[in-house]
Amino acid sequence: MRETEATADARRALEVCNACRYCEGFCAVFPAMTLRREFTSGDLSYLANLCHNCRGCYYSCQYAPPHPWNINVPQVLAQVRAETYEEYAWPGPLAGLFKRNGTIVSLAMIAGIALALILTMALVDPSILYTPQQGPGAFYRVIPWWLMVTLAGGTSLFAVLALVMGFRNFWRDTGGRADELRPGRPLAVALHDILTLKNLGGGGGGCNDVDEGFSQVRRRFHHFMFYGFLLCFASTTSATFYDHFLGHEAPYPFLSLPVQLGFWGGVGMVIGTAGLIWTKIVSDPAPAARNLLGSDYALLVLLLMAAATGLLLLGLRDTGAMGVLLAVHLGVIFTLFAVIPYSKMVHGVYRSAALFRHALERRPTPPPGNKPSDRALGSAA
Ligand code: SF4
Ligand code: SF4
Repeated sequence: MRETEATADARRALEVCNACRYCEGFCAVFPAMTLRREFTSGDLSYLANLCHNCRGCYYSCQYAPPHPWNINVPQVLAQVRAETYEEYAWPGPLAGLFKRNGTIVSLAMIAGIALALILTMALVDPSILYTPQQGPGAFYRVIPWWLMVTLAGGTSLFAVLALVMGFRNFWRDTGGRADELRPGRPLAVALHDILTLKNLGGGGGGCNDVDEGFSQVRRRFHHFMFYGFLLCFASTTSATFYDHFLGHEAPYPFLSLPVQLGFWGGVGMVIGTAGLIWTKIVSDPAPAARNLLGSDYALLVLLLMAAATGLLLLGLRDTGAMGVLLAVHLGVIFTLFAVIPYSKMVHGVYRSAALFRHALERRPTPPPGNKPSDRALGSAA
C-alpha cells in the first residue's frame, strides 16, 4: 500500500487513539489497534477495512472537530479504505476506474441498457420488443439463450476472478499467509461477524447512523439488501437448474421456487437499497468522506435498479412491455457484474478478509505448558 496523505492522516489519528483508548470497547478496530505500537501502511489498510463506519468514535471523541487536534476516525479510515480499493484492484490498469467512480458506474449502467436494447433489435425482429410473448421460452425469443449465457457467464466469471485477485493482494499486503486460509474457529467467528454485521451493532445499542443517537437502522437495511441479493442469486441458480437439468424453460409460475426466491430477494433489495440511500441523505455529513459519496450513491442506485426492473418484469411479463423490460433488466444486471470489482461492492471482500484477520489475531493463547515452544523448552530441560 502506498504512503499517501490519507495514510498519514490515518496514522496520526490512530496514534492519538492508541494513547487515549477511550473507544476501546466500541468495535473491532480499537482492540486490533492496541496490538500495535506503530502502524505500517499494511496495518492501516487492515484497520481501515475493519472499520464499519458506525461513527460511534466520532460522536464520543473529545478531540473531534472543533478541537484543534481534529480527530475524525471514520472519515480518515474511509479515505484510506477507498485507496485500498484502487491499490488492490485487478488487473492493475483498471484501478483507475475507482477515480470519479460515481460517474463511471452511472455511465456504465446507461451503456449496458443501451447495448442490451441495440443487440436485441439487431439479433431479433425489433417488433418483438413490444409484442406480448408468453409460454415456455418467451424470454429467449426476445434475447437469444446463447447471448444471455455468454454475457452472464463472461461478466460474472471475470468479476469472480478480479475479486479473488483483489483478496489475494489485500491478504499479502496486510501480512497474511496462505497457510492461514483454512477452515477452523477463526473462520467460523469471522463468518458470524460478517453475516450478522456485528460491528454495526455497537455492542447491542446500535450505531450512529444519522446523528449522535443510536439505532440499528443501517444494519437492518444492509441486511435487507445483502440477504435480498443472496436470494436473487439463489433464484438465478435454481432457474439454471430448472432449465438445464429439469428441461423447464422460463418463465416459471409465480409460486415456483425460482420466482419466489427472486420475488422476495427483489423486495428485500428494494427495501435495503432505498433505505440505505435515505440514511445517507439524512445523515450528519461531518464524519463522512464527502468525496466518496458519489460512488456510494451510484452503486446503491444500480442495485436498486437491478431489483426494481426485475420486479417490474415479473409483474408485466405477460404484456407487450416484457421485451423492453427484459432488455433493460439484463442490461442493468450485466453492468452490475461488470462493475462489481471496480465499485464499492469490493468492500464486502476486504471487510470480510479484515474480519478474518481479526479473528485470527484474537485466537486464545494456549495455557502455559501447551504452547509448542513451552513443550520444546520442557523437553530441553
Ligand atoms: S476517537 Fe477520540 S476518544 Fe476515541 S480513542 Fe480516539 S482519540 Fe480517544
Ligand atoms: S467508525 Fe465505528 S467501526 Fe469505525 S473505528 Fe469508529 S467506532 Fe470503530
